[in-house]
Amino acid sequence: MNTIERIRDPAARTYDLHCHSNQSDGSLSPEELVSRAKVKEVSVLALTDHDTVIGLSRAKAQAKIENIELISGIEFSTQWQGRNIHIVGLNIDLNNVNLLELIEKQEGRRHDRAKMIGQKLEAVGVEGAYEGAQRFSGPGVVGRPHFAKYLIEQGYVSSMEKAFKRYLGAGKPGDVKLLWPSFEEVIPVIVGSAGVAVIAHPTKYEMTRTKLCHMVEDFVESGGRGIEVVSGNQDARSSLDMAKIGVKYGLLGSVGSDFHTPSNGWAELGRCASIPAIIDPVWSAWER
Ligand code: MN
Ligand code: MN
Ligand code: MN
Repeated sequence: MNTIERIRDPAARTYDLHCHSNQSDGSLSPEELVSRAKVKEVSVLALTDHDTVIGLSRAKAQAKIENIELISGIEFSTQWQGRNIHIVGLNIDLNNVNLLELIEKQEGRRHDRAKMIGQKLEAVGVEGAYEGAQRFSGPGVVGRPHFAKYLIEQGYVSSMEKAFKRYLGAGKPGDVKLLWPSFEEVIPVIVGSAGVAVIAHPTKYEMTRTKLCHMVEDFVESGGRGIEVVSGNQDARSSLDMAKIGVKYGLLGSVGSDFHTPSNGWAELGRCASIPAIIDPVWSAWER
């Protein structure tokens, strides 16, 4: 099937444009992730690790072996009016200097936070927290799941869930808020690297419709072009609703599982509904 036919018949290909590897908070290596996507019959996969592109070259190499298309992606943590908003960048240019600079800054922010979480956990009696968590993070930045694994290993808690409930979740000793850059700062960097900026999982912010529309207006003003109208296994009504908002503001529709780990059966790679037909798909931005 040639490219034109594929665009006319998007159902012929399965897209998953949002997922994570163990280079951020996912559990599979980039290679394992791509191989799993192949098994799940995904034909176009975007790896969108949090604030890093470190897994993309390995994912690309594996995608070649598996004969699936790999889109260079990232999920940026940003802020809009004091709320944490995630912005996915799709089809970004990995050689863009401004993009790499922003990623480095984000990494620094995460690193500083990890150090602070470590200190706070020490203060409530968790010995060697930072170094312990580091053993689980590998070469990447230490994140909360790594602290959770250390807490389990050392017998402080019996599960990831309890680690967050007692130590790492909101209001707990290891809860350190991060001051992310505004999305007005992040979106132009994605756009400047030839990428498409997409609002990730818009239904998860628990905003009123008015607030969400206000955010979308600001997003468009900063150069944003897409909205994830289908995220994971969200219900069809929400997807249609998000598609309507997308159409209203001239956005393209994206779809992604937000897959992190095989142990979450409800968020499987490629297991997403199709994008409602009323909105143009985001891949029309790069497949033409
Ligand atoms: Mn995540
Ligand atoms: Mn997210
Ligand atoms: Mn995500």
